[in-house]
Amino acid sequence: MKLNYKNRISLRLIIASALIVALSFFIIYEVAHWTILFNIDQRLSEELKEHEGQISIIDGEVRFVHKGEWEEREHREIQFNPIYIEIVDKKGNSLDKSPNLGEVNLLFRPDYSDPNKGFNLSLKQGEVRQMQIALNNGDQGVGYLMIATSFSNQSLLLNNLKKILFLLFPLILFSLYLTLRYLAGKSIEPVLYITEKAKEITTKNINERIQLPKHQDEIKDLSMAINDLLDRLEKAMEREKQFTSDASHELRTPLSVLKGNFEVLIRKSREPQEYVSKITSGLKTIDHLNSVLDQLLSLARLQTESIDLHEVDLIYLVEEIVGSVKEHQNFRNISIENQLDQPVYVLSNENALSMVFQNLLENSLKYSQNDSDVQIRIKKSPSGVDVDICDHGIGIEPEHITKIFNPFFRGDSSILGRIKGAGLGLSIVKRLCDDLKIQIEVKSEKDNGTIFTLKFDESLIQS
Ligand code: ADP
Repeated sequence: MKLNYKNRISLRLIIASALIVALSFFIIYEVAHWTILFNIDQRLSEELKEHEGQISIIDGEVRFVHKGEWEEREHREIQFNPIYIEIVDKKGNSLDKSPNLGEVNLLFRPDYSDPNKGFNLSLKQGEVRQMQIALNNGDQGVGYLMIATSFSNQSLLLNNLKKILFLLFPLILFSLYLTLRYLAGKSIEPVLYITEKAKEITTKNINERIQLPKHQDEIKDLSMAINDLLDRLEKAMEREKQFTSDASHELRTPLSVLKGNFEVLIRKSREPQEYVSKITSGLKTIDHLNSVLDQLLSLARLQTESIDLHEVDLIYLVEEIVGSVKEHQNFRNISIENQLDQPVYVLSNENALSMVFQNLLENSLKYSQNDSDVQIRIKKSPSGVDVDICDHGIGIEPEHITKIFNPFFRGDSSILGRIKGAGLGLSIVKRLCDDLKIQIEVKSEKDNGTIFTLKFDESLIQS
């Protein structure tokens, strides 16, 4: 059965309430029942004791001592709760009884000779409660004294109580169900509003937000969490828009230049050197486009693929990368200063980590003079292990430090100095570092050099 939240919560509450109400009613009935029986049994017990003293046993014959007085009193007084008395011998044969019993006899039950515990039975006079005790002459049992009193009123009271409770039970449950359903509906209202509002928000009106409720409660927390999510989505959408426009600009500009150059070239016949020069510059443009596309592909792949982490020998990896970068960069000077006295193994990914080091090293070489060297420093830090990539190059303007990890951002000096690049290297580095849980920090001084620090937290270090 498919129930909505309002009905489901009301149903659960009503089941719990039904159990509680049923238990309460059961306790009420049992207490009333026990109290009535306790009182009547107490009275019967007292009557038994009183009448036991009025019985004489002479020569084995059992009889009431003051039967005449007693009968007279019975005729004189109107008795609302008459007491029925009967004496029987050991076998249960009636020896004597009170006149109010008439033809009827009380029920002899040899198993019930307890002066504290009675039992119910029906007589012609109505429902009665009876109690009995054994009568002894010395050690010898001679018969039983049986006493009973009317139980009709009490029985009626208990029956009425039972009927009222049975009638009240569904009525209480039904009214509880209606109240709970109403309250559940009221409590779910803010959630319905959030659902409706969230459905209305699309990419076209992503700037709209859910109105916060007045009270500081879980609903407010939920609304705030959804608003935060919308904030993040809006920012991501803006970044995406910016990225797409930057990417198309980055690809379209060299393509337009290439097209323009070729159009000029075919307008009339030219000297062979001119053809060679234009085609060479065209090839360079194609190389640049190729590298931009490669980096865009790497970024796109990083967004969808997850990185598999395993144990990596950090110092060995740094040495490997330095060797290969040197080979491609005319064997420029890259030095490694290892301040650790033993190998360090980190939880990482060789390919991803190589890409990070390669990008940072290539930037350091790219943005420093040909003769100045680049240094890698591996050292212990309070939080784990740090790797610094230091250069003495052109440095970064302070206002650019926060932007260098944005896709397609390029510092003025890189553009003015015609240093090759598309502004994608550091965004790839940042994404990889986030995935590898490496913190990256930058310190730079204009015209003095830059230090990129990769911080490997204690949790990444494998012992
Ligand atoms: P690209 O190098 O292709 O321009 P990056 O994303 O690698 O793109 O770098 C973004 C910008 O950060 C660069 O244009 C440059 O201005 C600055 N930058 C990065 N590394 C260095 C460095 N070692 N020294 C000086 N500037 C740097």
